[in-house]
Amino acid sequence: MGAATAWFLAHEHGVRVTVLERDASYARASSALSACAIRQQFSTAINIRLSQESLHFYRAIGDRLAAGGEVPHLGLVEPGYLYLAATAQGAQRLRDQQALQRAHAVHTALLEPDALRARFPWLDTDGLTLGSLGLSTPTSGEGWFDGYAAMQAFRQAAIACGVTFVEDEAVEFEVRDSDGMCTVTGVRTARGATVPCDAVVIAAGAWSAGVAERLGVSLPVRARKRDVFAIEADADLRDAPLVIDPSGVWFRPEVARGRFLCGAPPRGEDADDVPLEQVDHGLFDEVIWPALAARVPAFDALRVTASWAGYYEMNTFDHNGLVGPLPGIANGYTACGFSGHGLQQAPAVGRALAERIATGAYHTIDLTPLRVERIAEGAPVWEQNVI
Ligand SMILES: Cc1cc2nc3c(=O)[nH]c(=O)nc-3n(C[C@H](O)[C@H](O)[C@H](O)COP(=O)(O)OP(=O)(O)OC[C@H]3O[C@@H](n4cnc5c(N)ncnc54)[C@H](O)[C@@H]3O)c2cc1C
Repeated sequence: MGAATAWFLAHEHGVRVTVLERDASYARASSALSACAIRQQFSTAINIRLSQESLHFYRAIGDRLAAGGEVPHLGLVEPGYLYLAATAQGAQRLRDQQALQRAHAVHTALLEPDALRARFPWLDTDGLTLGSLGLSTPTSGEGWFDGYAAMQAFRQAAIACGVTFVEDEAVEFEVRDSDGMCTVTGVRTARGATVPCDAVVIAAGAWSAGVAERLGVSLPVRARKRDVFAIEADADLRDAPLVIDPSGVWFRPEVARGRFLCGAPPRGEDADDVPLEQVDHGLFDEVIWPALAARVPAFDALRVTASWAGYYEMNTFDHNGLVGPLPGIANGYTACGFSGHGLQQAPAVGRALAERIATGAYHTIDLTPLRVERIAEGAPVWEQNVI
């Protein structure tokens, strides 16, 4: 989010930007630990628009972000998402969402169990009532890509446009108060520097609430751990989409045949700040594997080849991004709280936020539905499809 916003500010608006990043290895950054998938099957119009715009950008990233002779390549593939339902209610929800999605030029096919079996012979449809499959078209598409490469592409292109990346931590703000509004004049860093600024953007992922607190702004963004497992199985699931089982377990193929990524929401309470080193292997053994084997018999025998954890930057208010001006701060902005769908929205959010900062208004996508003020207004924009 930070790198994308910086690139759009510099490239589209000629703004001079400094990005403070406390760890240039990005070892704990969500953007480096993500499952890197992009979809259109959301339950809210704003998320559909953001992912659609971003998909167009990612499809053309080689043209958009080529810098210094380097042409970024994300390995974007678009086999779709397959949402599965196991109850009449779940099926109705897929139907309702399809109506909204269709109104936004998103193409999906609703497949009854027979049609699911015919299309995906490896799928056990026992207990299923319906599936919703995303179809790739010029306007819509779903799949996955190399998210770390996307982040680095924005970073390198931003540097080529004159953006300065400094490896240092933002720890405090220098502010000026007038008429009840606070204006940020500089950011103090852990290494004792002060970076003067005309505007500041808090895009610190799962750590954004702690940074905003330094400005007296309370954001409901919490670090919520999600585990990812890489598996190997003797399973030929050609053209498999990213499958979301009614149990919440998901899987998708990797490029190499017989290799897959999978995961599930945590067991029990979704606690804040669980250390990333604590991958929950019991989650795999007790929840994920049984669900995988029940849905795809070929997953009966498999082995875990790797696992890792990263933080969702969970917006506990309504599971959606918080974007735009920070209330009470004349020149403060944020882009955080994307709750597990931020990587796929970074290009569209970065572009719109840059417009808002540089011109005072949104032009490509109106991001006011994601305004921070909705928290105080008690007006949530609930996204139902958060895994
Ligand atoms: C397991 C997992 C799977 C996911 N799957 C998907 C997916 O399939 N599709 C999708 O779209 N999204 C997915 N996400 C979510 C996605 O990764 C995030 O929404 C996105 O990466 C957030 O980007 P960001 O730039 O806001 O945060 P980050 O990438 O975390 O970047 C924030 C940066 O801020 C830095 N920072 C923090 N505090 C300070 C400070 N005080 N000073 C300086 N620097 C600071 C951090 O070091 C970090 O590098 C997933 C996330 C996880 C963990």
